[in-house]
Amino acid sequence: MKPMLSPRAVLGAFLALLLVAPLVMPPFYVTLLNYIGLYALVALGLVLLTGVGGLTSFGQAAFVGLGAYTTAVLTTATDLPAWLAWAGGSPWLALVVGLVFTATVALVLGSLTLRLSGHYLPLGTIAWGISLYFLFGTLETLGGHTGLTGVPPIAVFGYELTDGSQIFYLIWAFLLSAVLTTQNLLDSREGRAIRALKGGMVMAEAMGVNTARSRMVIFVIAALHACASGWLYAHMQRFVNPTPFGLHIGIEYLFMAVVGGAGHVWGALLGAGVITVAKQWLQDILPRLFGQSGNFEVIFFGLMMIVILQRARDGLWPLVARLVPVRATRRKLDAAAEPLPRKALPARGEVILEAKEVTRKFGGLVANNNMSLTVRAGEIMALIGPNGAGKSTMFNQMSGVDTPTSGEVLFLGRPVAGRGSREIARMGMSRTFQHVKLLPTMSVLENVAIGAHLRGDKGVFPSAWRLDRAEEARLLNEAARQIERVGLAEHMFDAAGSLALGQQRILEIARALAADPCLLLLDEPAAGLRFKEKQALAELLRKLRGEGMGILLVEHDMDFVMGLVDRIVVMEFGEKIAEGLPEEVQQNPAVLEAYLGGVE
Ligand code: ADP
Ligand code: MG
Repeated sequence: MKPMLSPRAVLGAFLALLLVAPLVMPPFYVTLLNYIGLYALVALGLVLLTGVGGLTSFGQAAFVGLGAYTTAVLTTATDLPAWLAWAGGSPWLALVVGLVFTATVALVLGSLTLRLSGHYLPLGTIAWGISLYFLFGTLETLGGHTGLTGVPPIAVFGYELTDGSQIFYLIWAFLLSAVLTTQNLLDSREGRAIRALKGGMVMAEAMGVNTARSRMVIFVIAALHACASGWLYAHMQRFVNPTPFGLHIGIEYLFMAVVGGAGHVWGALLGAGVITVAKQWLQDILPRLFGQSGNFEVIFFGLMMIVILQRARDGLWPLVARLVPVRATRRKLDAAAEPLPRKALPARGEVILEAKEVTRKFGGLVANNNMSLTVRAGEIMALIGPNGAGKSTMFNQMSGVDTPTSGEVLFLGRPVAGRGSREIARMGMSRTFQHVKLLPTMSVLENVAIGAHLRGDKGVFPSAWRLDRAEEARLLNEAARQIERVGLAEHMFDAAGSLALGQQRILEIARALAADPCLLLLDEPAAGLRFKEKQALAELLRKLRGEGMGILLVEHDMDFVMGLVDRIVVMEFGEKIAEGLPEEVQQNPAVLEAYLGGVE
């Protein structure tokens, strides 16, 4: 076995190197490191936005420009309007103004673009990226294409950072705090919601996550990182012009994040480092090689990108991480954490879900016709029928995903129609999916913890600064408790994607349970399971029923349902053809006809 290094020791060694770097390196290299730090700060925002959140932005350079121009104007202007005069002359006050201004712009741009899906979102970011760039070059007060000069240095405790080797420490302090807070954020309730955005939006909403809010959160955070980078840049260069804030630089930032490893916070630093050094090196060497000057590095650079994206789709960080064997930090569970409060379950036998004469038409097709049914606390109700009978449509009416053409569905006496899946989850109805929806690279524990999302309330700032640990311990404890309850304890820390299908289905039930529901809706939970897995599932459902849970099961598999459930409603062609105890339904001629003579 290879000796493993502790993450603390590696970080400590890295800090020590940074500390001495400006003392021993020639100024040229210190400047290079400064640029790497500035670029990495922007790329880090993109790791969060694009790599983790799946939202591609080509427009980050414009936010860098906002930060740079705000501080340049505020620290050089001699005739600021009265309402802004307080912020004049001080880089630190200008940083505050810049951050607030950038957050405002990001909120506006975000509310316009984040709703766009597919390739429209990146196109949207290109559009505003170009607009802001031309705004910088056009506005008279910003100095047009020549820009603004005479930007003062930043002072820290009265000590002016005039030299590259001095601002070096400030740049890297910003970068390292950004990396560490981002790392903290991702490892929290808020972070799990963010990590669910890529590929798990429907699931996340059903677990009570406000995905629109999470998208906006990472968009604003990424913009703020870019703004801080621009602020540092302006005071390092001591002048600003529009050139470094154009679209092609925005593309380069995206390259940095992707090449470094867009899913990893340290990948931002690696990507910024590799690309900055490579460009510098190519700029030096290529003209000599070709014996004439020209922008050869851009051409080489493009080719290099294609090769890296071909060979290492997850970027370079995973490759580097393999070379330096850092011990993985596994989340420790704190068994002493106080349990989360639980809602009281309705009394056994009480009707909790009631569909009244529900009809759903799709154009001329009547998918559900005058369907009525009830589910009681402490019972398992099955809705069965051949393929195409209208079961999933009925499931959607009852879970609030779809609205009936006529009739209504009441959950705990309140209508379900018109409520979003988040609100329904909060009311105590929790569901699994016919096609399993998990986050395969996240651990079983983290997947189940998403189910407990609506039982916590700590947001971005407490998470970034680790002020959420008490709540986090309670949430993880709850997730662990549900994992034990369904019998997956030995897989607690495995990646969810590594489980067999049967176990993944059971994981979904644990996730639904973590929301503290009184009603479980399961759409074809036995589909694709082997005999043993079906038995384990049936046993779990019996146990939950015994604890007073109401369960509605949509099933196609008669055998699975027969020995398990209390009552059955049989559907065919959108209508109820039978209802009753399993034994009764099994003898019903209409049901036998539907199953034996039907679509099967
Ligand atoms: P089951 O789940 O019992 O197999 P479904 O509820 O999925 O059946 O489908 C019932 C009928 O409704 C089918 O004929 C299906 O084609 C139709 N249907 C379902 N959803 C829609 C939709 N969104 N638009 C049009 N037709 C639909
Ligand atoms: Mg179906």
